[in-house]
Amino acid sequence: MTDLNKICWICGNQADSAEHVLKRSDVSKFYQPTPKQNRDKVFFLKEQILLQLQSAKSKHIKYPNVLCAKCNNETTQPFDIAYSEFINWYDNHKNDVERWRTIDFYDIWGAHWGLKQSLLFKYFAKAFGCRLSHENILVPEDVRQIISQDTWRSGLCVTFTWNYDLILVNSGHKIMISYPLKPVHLPNGDVGYIAGHTYDCLVITYYYFTHSPFFDEHLGAPWSGNGRSVYLGWHSEKDEKKKMALIDSVLTSPSSKIIVPNL
Ligand SMILES: [Zn+2]
Repeated sequence: MTDLNKICWICGNQADSAEHVLKRSDVSKFYQPTPKQNRDKVFFLKEQILLQLQSAKSKHIKYPNVLCAKCNNETTQPFDIAYSEFINWYDNHKNDVERWRTIDFYDIWGAHWGLKQSLLFKYFAKAFGCRLSHENILVPEDVRQIISQDTWRSGLCVTFTWNYDLILVNSGHKIMISYPLKPVHLPNGDVGYIAGHTYDCLVITYYYFTHSPFFDEHLGAPWSGNGRSVYLGWHSEKDEKKKMALIDSVLTSPSSKIIVPNL
């Protein structure tokens, strides 16, 4: 069997570049400008194991050998920039995001919103493709094409959810989550996938369905990189005991199995 980890899933050349599971700039923010001795602990929840990150360069937050250097550094750089701009805007407007649970890309990029929101979507397509490739799953052609096309038809879409529990978990510590890739068996026999990551209270979920898409509407309206606004869903664990167990496990037992906050 071909080891997909060694081949760049975008261009097919040798993969010699590591891509970040979480964007390094997202992680770096938690280390700056706070002096080292006073900083909050930063945790990364990977495959249900909570890891305390010592720096933004941690190997825990990289996928080795899923892209070639050209695709990682040149081809997809505009996607990374759009994502950073999106996150910077979120940092300055999170109260509005929580209150209105809507993100209007015009507020972020003005007249450039059309192009920029498509570049942002391409960033999530890249993140999803790297996740599949890391798991040695062939990236579907329609996802691969998103990278190079101006318009596309794809089974990939994204939702944004405001997770109230992450406010509690975040108090005093920072936690960043990369949700494990979850296969979904579709009615037509195909396999779909759900994966995602968090930034602060924002849960960004990627869905790939070839047939009969199904969504928990409360997690947000699906967005495919083809609109000016996205509507966020929300989530909070109703069971107080479960919620407290989650927070305890984050605050008291790093590097151990913990309860994963629901998507
Ligand atoms: Zn490449």
